[in-house]
Amino acid sequence: MKDYCQYHPLSAATFHCDHCAHFLCDHCVDHSKMPERCIHCGGKLESLGASNSAEPFWRRLQQAFRYPLASQSLTLIVVVSLLTSALSVLPFAIAIYLIATGAMMRYSFACLENTAQGKLTAPDITHAYEGGVVLLFQLLAIVVVMTAVVIGIEMAISEGLAKLVGVLFVLGFPAVIILFAINQSWLEAINPASILRLILAIGLPYGVLLGLILVMTASVSVLHEIIGTVDFLAAFLQSAVSNFYTVVVFHIMGYMIFQYQAELGFTARAEDGEALERSEMELHNARIDIALKEAQYNKVVDLFAEANSKFPDQASYYLRCFDYLCNVNLPERLSRFAPHFFDFLFKSERKEQVYPSYKRLLRALPGYQPEAPRLRHLLAEQCYSNGDARSTLKLLNGLHKQAPDYPRLVAAYELMCEALADMPNMGKQLAQCQQLVANIKRRAEQKAEARAAEVAARTEAAKAELAKTVTRRGGAPKGAKLIKPKREADAEQLNDEHLTHEQRVLGSRPTRIPSGVKPGAKKAEPDSTQAAEAESKPSTDDNDLPPIDFKL
Ligand SMILES: [Zn+2]
Ligand SMILES: [Zn+2]
Repeated sequence: MKDYCQYHPLSAATFHCDHCAHFLCDHCVDHSKMPERCIHCGGKLESLGASNSAEPFWRRLQQAFRYPLASQSLTLIVVVSLLTSALSVLPFAIAIYLIATGAMMRYSFACLENTAQGKLTAPDITHAYEGGVVLLFQLLAIVVVMTAVVIGIEMAISEGLAKLVGVLFVLGFPAVIILFAINQSWLEAINPASILRLILAIGLPYGVLLGLILVMTASVSVLHEIIGTVDFLAAFLQSAVSNFYTVVVFHIMGYMIFQYQAELGFTARAEDGEALERSEMELHNARIDIALKEAQYNKVVDLFAEANSKFPDQASYYLRCFDYLCNVNLPERLSRFAPHFFDFLFKSERKEQVYPSYKRLLRALPGYQPEAPRLRHLLAEQCYSNGDARSTLKLLNGLHKQAPDYPRLVAAYELMCEALADMPNMGKQLAQCQQLVANIKRRAEQKAEARAAEVAARTEAAKAELAKTVTRRGGAPKGAKLIKPKREADAEQLNDEHLTHEQRVLGSRPTRIPSGVKPGAKKAEPDSTQAAEAESKPSTDDNDLPPIDFKL
């Protein structure tokens, strides 16, 4: 009868998603939006209220009997019982009796209303202050009208029908109280059709409630038989017990409204401590949890990626995402994620995890080679420091062809020389590599010289221009200061070429082919380093050297 969450088989469902046709628990629902949304599909949800998740009241009898033991309600019960028991000895007895009983009634109704809203602890005593006597008269009016109806039926129709209606009224009295509490209208409360509908909606538990009331009433009678009402103490005891029972019964009736709220056209949720508020991260975790259970591989990865940007200081998402991608077959996504993952490991001081992660990546993606030269170099360093010379060579070989402008090319090939020296029978390749290092160094020097020459030439030209302007205008021009910084900026831009390259190394492919690779591309730039290029060109033959040939 009870429905359980699709993803948490031990949790009672609190919502139903018509779109997925799934029952969901609170964990699987996005409460940040109103109305609540399904975490799985984002669809609107139908609240099951507490009718599905609430325990039947007879399983909560122990709690129900503890309910009036809260200090405030217990105080009220004792005070009211003392006052009503004092009826026979005090003057103005009726007034006191009415006020005290009214207060007790008002408080009992407050217990019912509170419980119906899902608040499972007794309300405070302030609820007993107002409207008690009015309430008492309203209840009295209900009893009077019900009696009048029964007498009317007996006189106008038949005695049998009157008895039937009378029995219905007696059995239905708890239903009358419940209806009165829900509708705040005593006319609606004594409508036989409403009473019947309510009893049928609750079903068997209503019978259990009647039985419970019977037992309680009987126990008060038994108490009366034993101790009588002769003295004040006996009267007080009976009054206290029956007031105690009243609170319990009203609490249980409230609980029935809470439990059968859907049937009674009422919605409330349990508030017994656990807050429904969740942080954005908890909500995100719930989304990941469901996508994992639904085996939606790409969605899981999307959610991890989203988490990485939303909660950048949470390492667990990177680690879990990498772990997940190594286990599922999504090679394309793994190779896209890997550079970000290694970048994260380096930035977050988790260098010791780099090498094992790289080896694991190779098992999932054999032959994986990162595109960015800087990452290749960093990985090679980690491989070498872990004693893996072969992987070091694999990562670095051919780097000078694929990324001729990588600023740390010399360091990379020096590392390669070290790795080759560590390996047996690599003498020839080591010599090749050393030659390559020398070539790269020479070319770099030539380039640097050419650049210096160009910068000097430009500075000269700028000076000459400035001098021309000064002689033409016969004084220092206002714009002079502006011209110079611009020239300086040009020179800096030249030097920045390496920096920007470095910066984009871990990102996408280079957007602009750097100088020295494709001369054709350079024509588009008016102030290019054509002179430098012409000079360095003959010595770029190391670029034409094939990758070092070693068999691994
Ligand atoms: Zn769930
Ligand atoms: Zn859904």
